Amino acid sequence: MDIHTHEESVTMIHVSCAVCRHEVPVDEAINAEASDYVAHFCGLECYQRWLTLSHTPGDDTF
Ligand SMILES: [Zn+2]
Repeated sequence: MDIHTHEESVTMIHVSCAVCRHEVPVDEAINAEASDYVAHFCGLECYQRWLTLSHTPGDDTF
């Protein structure tokens, strides 16, 4: 049987939020597929912000 057990030895992969650069476990991150990469977000707030920011193509200036 293949049961998922609690293993401390399992390395949790962290990704950094595309908006605030906060590091979050990849399991809890929100993923969004951009044109040629996958963006990760710490939460819905940052995801929404990224959606707004990336809504204007060609305008990458911050
Ligand atoms: Zn964030």
